[in-house]
Parts: sequence; structure tokens; C-alpha cells
Amino acid sequence: MLSIAEIAAKGLDYPYTNNTSFRVWIHVVGTVLREAEIYRDDGDFEKAYLLYTRFADLLLNKMPGHPGLKANRALFKKMTGKMPGVLQEMQQLKKALEVQITEEKKAEEERQRKLRALQQASDSGRSGGSRGSGSTSRIDDLRSQLGQGGPDHVNLEDYSFGRYDTRQVSEPMYEHGNWQQQAHHQHDTFDYPDLNRELSSVLSPYVYESGPLTLSPTAGQIRLADSPPAIPAKPAALKASYEKPAAPAPPTTSSSSVEHTSRYTTEGGLALRSLFIPAELEATFLKVAHANTVKNLETCGILCGKLSRNAFFVTHLMIPPQESTSDTCQTTNEELLFEQIDENDLFVLGWIHTHPTQTCFMSSVDLHTQNSYQIMLPEAVALVCAPQHDPNFGIFRLSDPPGVDIIKNCNRGGFHPHTEDNIYNNARHAMVKNGLPFKMKDLRS
Ligand SMILES: [Zn+2]
Ligand SMILES: [Zn+2]
Repeated sequence: MLSIAEIAAKGLDYPYTNNTSFRVWIHVVGTVLREAEIYRDDGDFEKAYLLYTRFADLLLNKMPGHPGLKANRALFKKMTGKMPGVLQEMQQLKKALEVQITEEKKAEEERQRKLRALQQASDSGRSGGSRGSGSTSRIDDLRSQLGQGGPDHVNLEDYSFGRYDTRQVSEPMYEHGNWQQQAHHQHDTFDYPDLNRELSSVLSPYVYESGPLTLSPTAGQIRLADSPPAIPAKPAALKASYEKPAAPAPPTTSSSSVEHTSRYTTEGGLALRSLFIPAELEATFLKVAHANTVKNLETCGILCGKLSRNAFFVTHLMIPPQESTSDTCQTTNEELLFEQIDENDLFVLGWIHTHPTQTCFMSSVDLHTQNSYQIMLPEAVALVCAPQHDPNFGIFRLSDPPGVDIIKNCNRGGFHPHTEDNIYNNARHAMVKNGLPFKMKDLRS
């Protein structure tokens, strides 16, 4: 676990530039605050503290120097009005984090103590000579995993320490069910039944501290991810549910539900949280867009949604007031859109637009639009519908690097060529799923 200073340093580590419009930064701080509150409510105090730090830094240190402040003072004031509450929140989180850090240190000391005891027990078992050599080497294998040289993959079930009931966990869903430990009575696995129990409590912190947990394709197993982008955010809750299934959650965490693991990263290696898009959204949008499409006019919509257990879900398709041509679409009266977003406490997760006659690609204007969305949220995506072509649907994002920097440093407007060819990619962290509910709101009339 990071120290408070290290968490704060991560919170302050983000790209800021006055070249990005003040309005976009207003949306960024709104998004950061929303994220912070959700992680706090989920009991992930580390991420919440990091995000509150970023919120405070943007409002107190960065945005006051932005040339766009003068024209947007009212919006800025609305945000700074939240500062006293945020600072109070940060104080409380800091206290809770200090408790967690102390407890983790104690647990690590306890683990070391058990390791030493295990070493002694194993040594005396070997010198006694009454045990089979096969079992002794099994214990040695396990002990080597507790040390530095352990393998990357540790499958708990292989060692009969118990397993999680994953029957009720299947993606996608808005709320994961609680994990339950299955009773396990296989006492004849080792020649040292007491050591078996000891090992299970020593091994579990090792597993959780080594990498993110993901569900393996076969039910009932728990294993480490192949390419771990991040450490699971709530090891304390998971550990507690594994070791003491009947015990209530510790007071420092509010939830013991499982988080969605980020499997994808930016080209630069930063974790991208999963983004789930309802499969029916494309057809719904095409129906709304149809009247424009037959007149060879583009239509655009905004994807909004929720953050739940470290994954984003598109829950609203907003059709904002807009002006369009055959190859552009510009939202007008954005106030109306952002009223809706605030009212429903939503994240802006991307946008969708039609290419009535053109193929499925990102035009130079699309790339600049997408850049604003990705500044607001790195996971934001662009959905393009090209009903007359094959492929007729794409989900894209700017590569990072190099796409984000190329577009950020390009000051040209209108359609213009970009010479680089790797500016955008398919957004692999975005997944289209059947059966996800969503609402469509047409704000044009
Ligand atoms: Zn386009
Ligand atoms: Zn450009």
C-alpha cells in the first residue's frame, strides 16, 4: 500500500495545459469529483484520496491561471463552492488511510512470523524422518512461493485451500454478488493438517499483494491475471471474506463486492477501465438518426453512464440539439445537455455519430472532437455508424501515445490532413454487451 504522500503525488501527476478550453476543464473537475465520491462510497479510500487531491489541485493551482476563467466565472464559482466539503472529506480519508496503512504493516509482520514458524515446523518434520519425501517437497514448493522466487500464477484450488463460489458472478452486471467461501474438508491433502490451515492464511496475503484478481474461464477458480495492469483496489475486503467468511466487513471498508479488473491499457501502459455498451444502443441510435441519414445529414449522440465497481456502463444515450451537414455535426445549446448529465449524476463516456455516405473511419474533425472527450475521461470512446459500408460500425479512441499528443499540438481547424497513421485505434477496453438497460433522451425538441 502506498503512503499518503505517494498517493497525493499520483494525484498531482496528470497533464494540464491552458490550450484545452476552460469549459473542458470544468467538465474534467466535475468528472474527477464524481469518480472520487464513487470510489469513497465503494470503500476504495486510496483512489478517492488521489482523485480529491487532483480536484483540489485543478481548482486551486491550475485553473485560476487559465485565460478562459474570466468568461466562465460563474461555472468556476460553482465548483470552488464544493472545496470546503472536499477538504473535510480529505481529512477524514487521510485518517482512515493511516489506519489501513498501520494495519497492513501489522499483517505483514504477522505473515513474516508465520513464515518463520513454518520454516521451523518443516525443518523438524524433515529431521524426524517419519514423513514421506513427496509431502515434504510439496511443503517446500509452497514455501518457495511465499518467498521472492514464487511463480507468477498461484491457483488456490490446486492447493485445496478452499475456493470461491463464482456461480453468481458473470459479467456484465451492475452489482457483483458477494463472494462466498466454500467449506472445504479435505484434511488428507498434506501430512501436516495444521500447517495446511496456517499456510492458507499466510498464502492469501501473498496472492492479493502480487497482482490483480480475475475470474478464470472455469468456475470456482481464482488466479492472477496474465498481464497485471494494477493491484486490486480492495485487498482488505477480499482478504477478510476469504479468511473469515462469516465475519462482518472491517469498519474501514464499506463493501466486500468484487471489482471489475482492467485488462487493457493505453499504448503507454496506463490502465483503462472496462466500458460496457448496450448492444441495442446502435440500432436505437440509427432509428433516431434515420430522418437525417436519408437526407445525407450526420447525427450525433452523447454516451453517458455510471461508474460501478471500477467499470463504466453506458446507461443513457442523449441526442443533443445539433446542426449538421453531410460530414459534420455540431452540438448546440450544450447547457441543456449538461443539465441532464448533472441531474442524473452521469459520466460522459463518449459519443456516437453517423457517416450517412462515408465509410467507417475517424475524420480529422472527429479526431479533434474525440480529444476533448478523452481529456475529460481517458476511457471515453467514439462510436461511428456507417450504414452504407462494411464494416458499418466502429468503436475508436486516440492512441496514447502518440495520437493524444499529435492532436493536442495540432492547431488547425476544419478538415485537414494528419500525416501520422497511428493516431487512433479500435477501443479494445470497450465491450458491446446484450441486455444492458439504457435510456434514450432526445433533447432536440
Ligand atoms: Zn465522422
Ligand atoms: Zn489536427
